[in-house]
Amino acid sequence: MCGIVGYIGGKPAAPVLIEGLKTLEYRGYDSAGLAVLGTGGTTSVRSVGRIRDLESALPKRLVGKVGIGHTRWATHGPATQANAHPHRSEDGRISLVHNGIIDNAAGVREQLQRAGVTFTSDTDTEVVAHLIARSAADTLEGAVLDALGRIVGTYALAVLDERHPDRIVVARNGSPLIVGVGEKEMLVASDAAALVRHTTRVVHLDDGELATVTATGFTTFDRAARDTTRDPVEIEVAAAEWELTGHRHYMYKEMLEQPEKAAAVIRGRLDERFATARLNGLNLTPRELRAFRRVKLLGCGSAYYVAQIGAQLIEDLARIPADAEAASEFRYRNPIIEPDTLYVVVSQSGETADTAFAVQEIKRKGGQVLGVVNAVGSTIARAVDGGSISMPVPRSLSPPPRP
Ligand code: GLU
Repeated sequence: MCGIVGYIGGKPAAPVLIEGLKTLEYRGYDSAGLAVLGTGGTTSVRSVGRIRDLESALPKRLVGKVGIGHTRWATHGPATQANAHPHRSEDGRISLVHNGIIDNAAGVREQLQRAGVTFTSDTDTEVVAHLIARSAADTLEGAVLDALGRIVGTYALAVLDERHPDRIVVARNGSPLIVGVGEKEMLVASDAAALVRHTTRVVHLDDGELATVTATGFTTFDRAARDTTRDPVEIEVAAAEWELTGHRHYMYKEMLEQPEKAAAVIRGRLDERFATARLNGLNLTPRELRAFRRVKLLGCGSAYYVAQIGAQLIEDLARIPADAEAASEFRYRNPIIEPDTLYVVVSQSGETADTAFAVQEIKRKGGQVLGVVNAVGSTIARAVDGGSISMPVPRSLSPPPRP
């Protein structure tokens, strides 16, 4: 799953979308695209490869002030221009971008084809554009709700409709989506990185939630169209966190920042004098903590390696049996969740889908789960019972000379 960014406000949308997509590049992607709605209708541009290729493929005059952009990591169909998002309805009225997987796309595609719809891509996403366009509802919100009623799967969706050019409608289920509240402009994104240059006031959508975003405001609602609108929260992390700040690659930047990050995480929390640590946000009393007989750490990829090291350290320092397991396998083996085991999930982004599913499995079976994540407000940070979030790296860290 990759990236989404959307803009509606007083400025031409395309440069904001391109800049937002560039900040999402660190997540990896195979193709990209954007759609901008202006007085002459929708302009949609898609390309395989880098964002700068997309940027150079844009028409000179692209002044529409509402638009959506996408970086794709293909799940259904190869990385081609035709499969890149945005996907459109046959009449071009609806454009949408999607992160995630529509599980019943094959069946819905067949039904739509039997009803005469011609598909132009291999993606699972395209069915959603056709479903929305074919809904009898007169509002875009109603049409999106109708379409969601027909699909099963995970999604973050952002939808444009030429009949309702004053809004973007977004929906979330299992893929992150954030609304950014600016001054007379609003953004949507799958990752705070794409918003922080414009605003730090955000609303994190919950699974099963939708939002209507206009240039001057937003409302959120659930699948039964009940209002769920709430005040935005302030995100604390500086925009520099997501910038390359002189480094050539994000991986290189992250590796070099490790000593600073590790020091920042421990600073003020480790109490050597009393041989203890004070971690805010665990939401467990010392008595509850002492009742645990085991610790199980879960993570995916490099977070799994972190979990392995963590298990060794916990055994060594706390003398409690601890082990690590790949979160991606966890829920498939119908795990026994023991009440005297403390589960700890590790995820840098807080959005690792398999780790989030492991949290759901633990909670469904009544287990206690803490998170070690690096993103406030992320899916995992909000799903766990408590946890620890690393501090931002000091701004004074100057980039090293390029190798
Ligand atoms: N499943 C969709 C596709 O293959 C979206 C993939 C993504 O999240 O980037 O186009």
